[in-house]
Amino acid sequence: MKRTGFLLLFLLSLQTVQAQKYIAVTVDDLPFVGADGDIKKVKEATGSMLKTLKKHKVKAVGFVNEAYILDRNRIKGNDEVLVNWLIKGHELGNHTFSHMSLTKNTLEAYQEDVLSGMRHSNTLNIGYRHQPIRYFRHPYLQTGNDSLKKYGLEAFLKAYDLIPVPVTVEADDWYFNQGYRKLLEDGKTSGAEEIGRLYVAHTLTAVKYYEALAQEVAGRPIKHIFLIHANALNARYLEEILNELEKQGYTFITVEEAMKDEVYQLPDRVLSEGGFSWLHRWRITAGKKTALREPQIPQMVVDAYEK
Ligand SMILES: [Zn+2]
Repeated sequence: MKRTGFLLLFLLSLQTVQAQKYIAVTVDDLPFVGADGDIKKVKEATGSMLKTLKKHKVKAVGFVNEAYILDRNRIKGNDEVLVNWLIKGHELGNHTFSHMSLTKNTLEAYQEDVLSGMRHSNTLNIGYRHQPIRYFRHPYLQTGNDSLKKYGLEAFLKAYDLIPVPVTVEADDWYFNQGYRKLLEDGKTSGAEEIGRLYVAHTLTAVKYYEALAQEVAGRPIKHIFLIHANALNARYLEEILNELEKQGYTFITVEEAMKDEVYQLPDRVLSEGGFSWLHRWRITAGKKTALREPQIPQMVVDAYEK
């Protein structure tokens, strides 16, 4: 009897271990997508995202485009937005100065953009975290369309102690956000809310899809890195997404913790014009095919985007 009880306890704890799911949150395009707009609104929206992250005990990395801080006489306001991220315990990363495409530019121009992309934010990060910026995120997730750019950039980042942060889960939030904002601007609130609901559903489907893909690529669940943007859509709907992920058993971890997963050591030799999840990069490098179907953006959202 005693033995059975022990066995049952062992099996139960084994089940708990297997059910553990981990995900780190990264937020691109700080200070905010559309930061040239009303700074008061930007601060409110940022406040809402920060409140959501705090509620779920998420410590994120926010990747900055400094061009958006310095532009259009918004320096002071946007600077305060970045400081708010730091005060709440998040860290800043480099996302190039101007959100440059590696595919469309030379490696030399891109490297210059990386360096000028952290002149100011590095000072802020050191001031609040006593640590220089250590993470880099490729704009458009473009890592190089030829080997000179890809491996040249890898060596360059290494020389400057910048760690490129892969993405395993993304759900086209930037695309949904465009239509969402247009509908809100046109006063079409119910249409915007419909996009919001579709965004939450699309994200949860995407998480399941990338879990399945991880199973195919790594043969096990991995510690994921999730990409979202600092935008109006997440100011309103991130709470619902994190809530649902928590219900599904996810624990939110830091990028540092996620990157201890050996999956991030898998080789990636993909040269491509476009950007996508590293799970595909590792899959393609390993010569594996997948029959999994990528989640499709609903037609209503496509219509709102193209309008
Ligand atoms: Zn970006």
